Amino acid sequence: MEIKIGAHVSISGGFIKALDREEKLGGNCGQVFVHSPRVWKFGKLSEKEARNFREEYNKRGWGPILVHSNYLINLATPKPDLFKRSVETLKEELRRAKMLGMEYVVFHPGSHTGSGEEKGIQSIIQGLNMVKEVIDDNTKLLLENTAGKGTSLGKNVDQLSQMFEKSKLTFDEAGVCIDTCHAFSAGYNIHTEKGLDDFVEEFDSKIGWDNVKAIHLNDSKYSQGSEKDEHAHIGEGKIGEQGMENIVNHPRIKEKPLILETPVDKEKGYRENIEKVADLMKN
Ligand code: MN
Ligand code: MN
Ligand code: ZN
Repeated sequence: MEIKIGAHVSISGGFIKALDREEKLGGNCGQVFVHSPRVWKFGKLSEKEARNFREEYNKRGWGPILVHSNYLINLATPKPDLFKRSVETLKEELRRAKMLGMEYVVFHPGSHTGSGEEKGIQSIIQGLNMVKEVIDDNTKLLLENTAGKGTSLGKNVDQLSQMFEKSKLTFDEAGVCIDTCHAFSAGYNIHTEKGLDDFVEEFDSKIGWDNVKAIHLNDSKYSQGSEKDEHAHIGEGKIGEQGMENIVNHPRIKEKPLILETPVDKEKGYRENIEKVADLMKN
């Protein structure tokens, strides 16, 4: 089985440049933003530019590519203006991903910011029903599990499964991206063999493991249950070397596209972390 592994790369200089960056890192799948993650506006994307990219992407013959959604989007918000803007932005990201032939848009379900878990999840479900119309077979929406920081929702399997059960989205239209740092920070002991098995099994029974379309493979700077969302180099965080070795060698994990969102700093970038994963897989 060929392992799919890649990283979140920049689109600066154009989308095709992102393909080059990915290959330089030794990646064969990956993730990009389609606009700046901290502003609402979108740049221009012509059909011609999109077609050029699609042709080039098809030629390279690897994938999938995830589009990571903008960080301002919050479908759980009690504020009507922010909700409306979030729905519109997520729709536009899905349209752009489709134009570019990218397979998934991944987003964080949102934070209720005080309205409470039940209302927040209700709002997310309403939002999902509204973006449904722009989803097709080629580009699906992925919900990412969160670390549970503040009032963020989607931190456990039950919350995520409610979003699927109560929304009109089908599993042909949507799925999940599991972030290992977030799951660990949210309290799951996925660094142990038993904890990881239990997590996979719970996911499988409540959502279906086939509906996990990608893994964000990150170590965590903070401890299990800290609810903090800060990623660490593979093997150098609190999940640790043994924990990451367990994760990357788990048969149900390594069958998924593994996408790194590890830090890029003076010591290490993605290339070193991808090499580290390859090393751990040999053990
Ligand atoms: Mn994310
Ligand atoms: Mn992530
Ligand atoms: Zn994170």
